[in-house]
Amino acid sequence: MWNSVRAKLTLWYVLLFGVLLLGSSLCLYVLIARSFRERLDLSLINTAQTAAKLFQGELSENGGDPRVATGHFFNEFKPPHLYVAVLQTPPAGGPKLLATNFDKGTPPSIPAGLQPVLPAPAILAQARQTHEPLTIEAAWFKPAGGRMAVYAFNAEAQDFIMLVAETRAISAAYLTELRRIFYFSFPVLLLVAGLAGYWFAQTACAPIAAMTAQAELISARNLHERLPIKNAKDELGQLAGVFNQLLNRLEASFDRMRAFTADASHELRTPLAIIRGEAEVALAQERSPGEYQEALTLIQDEAGRVAGLVEDLLALARADAGQHKLHLEELYLNDLVEESCRSVKTLAHKRQVALHYVPVEDIPMRGDSELLRRMVLNLLDNAIKYTPSGGAVQVQLLRNCNHAELQITDTGVGIPAADAAQVFERFYRVDRARTRTEGGSSGLGLSIVKWIAEAHHGSITLASQPGHGSTFRVSLPLEQ
Ligand code: ADP
Repeated sequence: MWNSVRAKLTLWYVLLFGVLLLGSSLCLYVLIARSFRERLDLSLINTAQTAAKLFQGELSENGGDPRVATGHFFNEFKPPHLYVAVLQTPPAGGPKLLATNFDKGTPPSIPAGLQPVLPAPAILAQARQTHEPLTIEAAWFKPAGGRMAVYAFNAEAQDFIMLVAETRAISAAYLTELRRIFYFSFPVLLLVAGLAGYWFAQTACAPIAAMTAQAELISARNLHERLPIKNAKDELGQLAGVFNQLLNRLEASFDRMRAFTADASHELRTPLAIIRGEAEVALAQERSPGEYQEALTLIQDEAGRVAGLVEDLLALARADAGQHKLHLEELYLNDLVEESCRSVKTLAHKRQVALHYVPVEDIPMRGDSELLRRMVLNLLDNAIKYTPSGGAVQVQLLRNCNHAELQITDTGVGIPAADAAQVFERFYRVDRARTRTEGGSSGLGLSIVKWIAEAHHGSITLASQPGHGSTFRVSLPLEQ
């Protein structure tokens, strides 16, 4: 299951969602906790200032007597949830506690038994110095702790400090509730995210599953089938498009292979049928030695043709499979071409075709001499074969920068433009009836020539004028 993309996507999604949720919840919690503290501090400061004003009023009403004023003040100011204390700072010495609202018993909303602790002298000194209200921790405010506002003020020419403290229990209860909400909602949200993520992943992967199912159905027998493309622009559409193009190429190569096999069988059938027929006729009755010789010669010719064909087929099959290793060696291309011309000289002479080759300077290169010789011989053989008697074949070899250009021009029948593009295809013959009589050929020669040129990183082109002749041009790089 963990190998499935869906599961992985879901897992990543849930993980990311979880981290984001945790991060945002933490931020939210910290912000809320801080805002609670700030609000508490603000309200304590406000209360301390209001209480100070009230106390000031009482003091002026009671002739500046702090004892009487505190009595009246605490009679009037009775917050049920606050600790309030009034301190007086005599002209000499530190602040002294005058009275607190705890003196007459703990207020109703505050748990009994609390032991308030006065701020440290340094804090009191700071408050008196600035005359600005400040807030400090009041850890003695059990159980949740608390905050205390310290406000130094002057009234009736005397220095006082008002202390107002409150428990943090209410905000702590809120925060506990908030934490509980987080604890509860966290797994629920993760579960929902997981399910939603899985659903999204499932929806996103559904076309892939459909493509997989469809691709599984495609075999050699129904290679024409293609994957459905819903939206060619999205990633899956592009993938299906690329896959379909691959199928196109596969189908084309399968078709070529089928045609190749059919053509090969067809080509082999004819000479084999001739061999068989000839042998049957010869064996049907007693023959003279001359007749036997004639039959055997024919059989030998046809067997030679079969052998040549099989050799060509083998070469092309090996080339297709990438198994044909080139035996590269240092050679002189001019020598190779010259030797090839010498080999076909007799054939040209027999056909009354003039063969012209002007020897050129040395053209050294690295190549497979056997294959290159086969390439040149094939081209020469064709040129002589398709040139009527009285015609000429011109062989030209020259060095062009770092390329060798071999040009074989004949004054033969030429190749119609419509066929020119196809002559390099296997088994392609311009005129089947004619070529058979021209000495028997399979239509494999030029495809082998092309393969040899390309195997040497070269190329071959054809220029032809029907009725006037053809020129085959092979270009071979000299540095491989
Ligand atoms: P083949 O073995 O039949 O000659 P090739 O592959 O060598 O097969 O040639 C393919 C076809 O191209 C030939 O059947 C022939 O019709 C044509 N062709 C090849 N070379 C020449 C040429 N020099 N002049 C005219 N036609 C040619």
